[in-house]
Amino acid sequence: MKFYQMMPKIELHLHLEGAIPYDVLFDLIQKYGGDAEIKSVDDIAKKFVFRDFKHFIELWVWKNKFLREYEDFRLIAKNVALDLKSQNVKYAEIFISPSPFKRLGLSCAGIIEAVSEGFKAAGGIRISIIVDMVRDNGPAEALSTLYEIEEVRRCGIIGIGLGGSENEYPPSLFPELFEKARNMGFKTSVHSGEASGAASVDEAVKLLRPDRIGHCVRAAFDGALLKRIVESNISVELCPISNLRTGSVIAAELYPLDKFVESGINFSINTDDPKMFGNSLVDEYYLIDKKLGFGRSKTVEFILNSISGAWISVEDKKTMREEFEKEIEIIKKNETNCVKS
Ligand SMILES: [Zn+2]
Repeated sequence: MKFYQMMPKIELHLHLEGAIPYDVLFDLIQKYGGDAEIKSVDDIAKKFVFRDFKHFIELWVWKNKFLREYEDFRLIAKNVALDLKSQNVKYAEIFISPSPFKRLGLSCAGIIEAVSEGFKAAGGIRISIIVDMVRDNGPAEALSTLYEIEEVRRCGIIGIGLGGSENEYPPSLFPELFEKARNMGFKTSVHSGEASGAASVDEAVKLLRPDRIGHCVRAAFDGALLKRIVESNISVELCPISNLRTGSVIAAELYPLDKFVESGINFSINTDDPKMFGNSLVDEYYLIDKKLGFGRSKTVEFILNSISGAWISVEDKKTMREEFEKEIEIIKKNETNCVKS
């Protein structure tokens, strides 16, 4: 575990609202009058145990009740960034879903500005913003959010995502959103193959033509589809422990990473909603090394390969990879010296 804690890492599929450190969320709950079930910070972790994907969405909505002012977004952004820094995460592309907060009188632009200020206040970590549209609010709402964020794209927005209830709101509702986002110069990612099956992923590939697919786990056994994803130059954002917690995968040992590796698909390893699932990138890599049996050198390769799917320039990817390799060499050397002494 310590080895993966020290490793330089990146996150490409992480939701700001699912990564709020428990002590910060506890303070926010107290700020708004508390919740009878939550008497201590520990009670938050106990509450975040899910029966299924639907229950996860219910708890997601419960937690969001305690985000009401721009200041709250500044606070969580700063603390999420500090938390990532403490895990030696060097770069992150973080989803934020501003539209559910419009009903409180907050604007998407104002939320993005607050989040950007929070990230900057943490300092020492490079973070880009992906504005996540909520399927459940329908395509018209997603389009209106897209136009709203245009005015604050200088805050570090690099792309859009599409999350929410995958089964009820299929890809066929959102081609216009993806087309418009592309025309505006945004990168695109879609949550697909998490709660629904390979047919939904196939539809997402054909109709949305995304740059990346989040999860994709339920398409892992469809070799022909994975081949089409590779040919379409789409990267996948894998989230093993998240899929385990929401029941997409029934046992950690059964996570089909081998299928993605065999397909030659470009993938990154991510935590999704770490404070709701009780995971970290260290846990993810430890699982891959030990429980999935890939071993350390292959797992380190996966850490480096995660950089390939990042929405940064080719030069930046090259530089980041070189910096990671240098740091990894030092970590390995120190480890060898420790063993010798
Ligand atoms: Zn997600």
